[in-house]
Parts: sequence; C-alpha cells; structure tokens
Amino acid sequence: MNDKKKQKTTTTSKSSLSSSAKIKTQTKAELQESVAQLEKKVRALTELNRVHKRKIFDLYTIFEISRNFNTLLDYQQLLDTFIFTSLAQVGSMKAAFYLSSHDKDNDFILTKFKGSGKFPSQRLSFQSGSKMLFNLTKINRPSKIEDIINSTANKNEKEILSFFHNGLVVPLLFQSELSGLFIISDKLSSREFSDDDIEFLSILGNQISVAIENTWLFEAETLASKQLRETQQQLVHSERLAALGEMSAKVAHEINNPLGIIKNYILLTNKLISENNDAVEYLDIVNDEIDRIAKIVSELLDFHRPRGFELQQIDVSKLASSVLSLMSRQFEKNQVLIESSFDPKAPEIEVSPESIKQVFLNLIINAYDAMPHGGKLQVTIKTLKNDISIKFSDTGPGIPPEMIPRIFEPFFTTKDPAKGTGLGLSVCYGIIKKHNGSITFYNQEIGGCFEIKLPLINEDRSYEPNI
Ligand code: ADP
Repeated sequence: MNDKKKQKTTTTSKSSLSSSAKIKTQTKAELQESVAQLEKKVRALTELNRVHKRKIFDLYTIFEISRNFNTLLDYQQLLDTFIFTSLAQVGSMKAAFYLSSHDKDNDFILTKFKGSGKFPSQRLSFQSGSKMLFNLTKINRPSKIEDIINSTANKNEKEILSFFHNGLVVPLLFQSELSGLFIISDKLSSREFSDDDIEFLSILGNQISVAIENTWLFEAETLASKQLRETQQQLVHSERLAALGEMSAKVAHEINNPLGIIKNYILLTNKLISENNDAVEYLDIVNDEIDRIAKIVSELLDFHRPRGFELQQIDVSKLASSVLSLMSRQFEKNQVLIESSFDPKAPEIEVSPESIKQVFLNLIINAYDAMPHGGKLQVTIKTLKNDISIKFSDTGPGIPPEMIPRIFEPFFTTKDPAKGTGLGLSVCYGIIKKHNGSITFYNQEIGGCFEIKLPLINEDRSYEPNI
C-alpha cells in the first residue's frame, strides 16, 4: 500500500469513528428524553391514581353518609348530623340551615345552626320568590356567597349572608322546588372552598333534601296516627258515657213514678197516726230519704234532659262572676282564695245560661271540696280561635291518673255517700256536650284543672233531648 492510499484509509476510519460516536450521543439523548417523558407520564398517572383514589374515597364517604341520613327519622337529629358531617368533611367552622317555614308565606327561616361566631337573628328570614332564591333554584349548585352578594341578593339577604365569611350557599331542592338553603362558611386555615368541597356539598345537598322531606312525612304520619288514636279513645269514652247516662236516665225515669206514689202514701199515713206516736218521727226520716232519692233521680234526668234549656246570647264572664260571688262567703270562711282572669274582649256566645251556671257551680263546689284546709281557686276565661276556654284550677290534691278516665261516669265518687252522689260531673259532661263543647280534666304541678271549651259559633242549635 502506497502512502496516499494508507492516508485515505486512516481518514475514512477516523470519520466513521466520529459518526458512530455521534450516533451514540444522539441515542443517549433520545433515551434520556424518553425516560424523562416516561417519568413524567408515571408521575401524571400516579397523580391521576391519587385523584381517583380520593374520588373513590369521597364517593364511598358520600354513600356512607347518605345511608346514615336515610336511616334517620328524627328531624332535629338529621339536621344536627348533617351539619356536623359537613363541617368535618370540608373543614369549616360555621353552618346553618334555612328551611321552609311551611306556613302560608313559605319563607326560609333559621332552623338550625352550629359553629363559632355570631349568627343572624332568627327574626331575619329569606323571603320566598326573591331573585336570589330563583337563581339558586335554577343553578341548583352551591354558589359562593361573595358572588351572590355581588349579583342577585337583596338588602335583607345581604344582611343575613354577611354573617358567613367566604361561605357557600347550597340550595336544597325537593322535586324541583326549593325546600331550603344550607350555608357553610369560615373554612379552617381561611382557604377558599375547593372544587372537591363544592362537588361534595352539591351531592350531599341533594341527599339531605330528600332525607328532610322523609322526616317531615314521618313526623306528620306519627302525629296523624297519634291524633287518630286519641280521637278513637275519646269516641269510645264518650259513647260509653252516653250509654251509661242514657241507661241511668231511663232507670231514673222509672223510679220517679213509684217515688211520687210512696210520698203520697207517707202523707196519708202521717194524717192517720196521732202526733206523739214514734211512727211520726220514723215517717219523717223516710220522707227525708225519699227526698234524697228524688234529688238523685232529678240529677240523673238532667244528664240527658237539662232543665230550662233555653238558649240566650250571654257574656260568659258575667255568668262566671255571678256564680263566684254566690260562693265567695263560703270560700272566704274556709280560707279559699278566688282569683279570676277574664278576657275582656271575649265575645258573647249562645248558651243555656241556667245549665252553664249549673256546670260552673258543680266545678266550683268540687274545687271547694278538694281544698278543705284552704287554698286557691283560679278561674280563667280566654278566647281561642273557635272557642271560649273556661278553666277552673285549684290547689287541691288533684285526681290520681288511673281515676281520671272514670270521673265523668255517673255515680263515680270518692266522697262519703252522704256528701257525694257521683253525678255532678256526669251532668256537667251532658250539658257541655249538648252545647257542642268539651270538658276535660288534667292534673297540674299543684292541684287539678277542669277546662271547658264552648264554641264561639254554634251550628247545631236544636239541642233536642235524647230521650
Ligand atoms: P261528687 O262530687 O258527688 O263525688 P262528681 O261527679 O262531681 O261527684 O265528682 C266525681 C269525683 O271526681 C269526686 O268524687 C272526686 O273524687 C273527683 N273530683 C271532682 N272534682 C275534683 C277536684 N277539683 N279535685 C279533686 N277531685 C275532684
């Protein structure tokens, strides 16, 4: 090989060496780039995985929370649980429920609140039909208080919202209707609510609306069945009393005639025997006892056929005052204080004054009998929506609860046979029923109370005796 050729060969091998080095460097850089990209992808995937894991955790939490809400049937407990859960989950310090007042205005009133700092007065409510509420219903997602204040809130709404810092308003919708608002604010570490928080509260908001409606329905149902049970019990009780009264009145009717005959024969016998005969004294005793029977019989008859049942428009307060003044001397003697509080605006009502007087007298005498060592009788007259309420409350011993269901039965008495016949209250019951009213008794902390309710307008004016 000549020198020239040798040199060419050397140059060629040198250049091939440098190009292979170049390729190597390039591949290395490309590899590094790929590794970097791969690492980036792995990081992104790890992050995505973390987000998904968090989402799954959140969904699981929401699922558990919702399940918990749906098992709660107590309204107050449900609201409490919701507030505590929300505060803990999004790390906030303050939350409040504004729920429908369920009255004719249907405003949203402060129903439950928890947390630190000041809350708006309960007097302030969100009035239904406002622009802000309309907008929140339309959006149906949690909205930032700041945005609401700057857009749709009116003066009253701004005043309420100003109590909640950096807060969110979550509209609560049931069947597309706004049933309330949940406000949450004052996030710990004073950060803003994240998108995750908003998402979380939005889902929870939907859940709670249904749960609230369920508790409402459950409570309404419980109340309705309680009222139904009470009405049924009252019906059974009043039917029993009516049957007892009717039977007693029929018996009384039958006794009345022979009594009259016996009385006449006593008179005739009296005339036949000489004055200083012992028999005169015995006949007097018989006569007195016959009079006692006659009194009981006439009271029994009153149960179904009250005497002098003529309806008149009267002022019940005046009637009560006149009966009280009739008894005042006796009360004073026995150190029983009379206190009366009568509604001066109570309207006149249509009643049989004689019969109502008889009722008042019976209740006052019973109260007097219940306080043999003195005490206080309080008579209160109030006007209610459809009735006038007249209460007679005393400071006596009251009535043992197991006896209360029997006190209106004819002949139920705890008094000495010479003192009580057990007819007074059954007669009162009959009279009040004939006025389409009610008479009830309940024990108080001290003593007992009879409450009479007489309708302001009496539609049934016939008052035909039943027998
Ligand atoms: P009487 O007075 O003849 O016993 P009532 O029908 O008027 O008949 O009363 C029935 C029973 O109800 C009484 O025996 C008494 O036990 C009870 N009672 C009525 N009023 C009162 C009262 N104010 N305080 C306590 N017990 C009462």
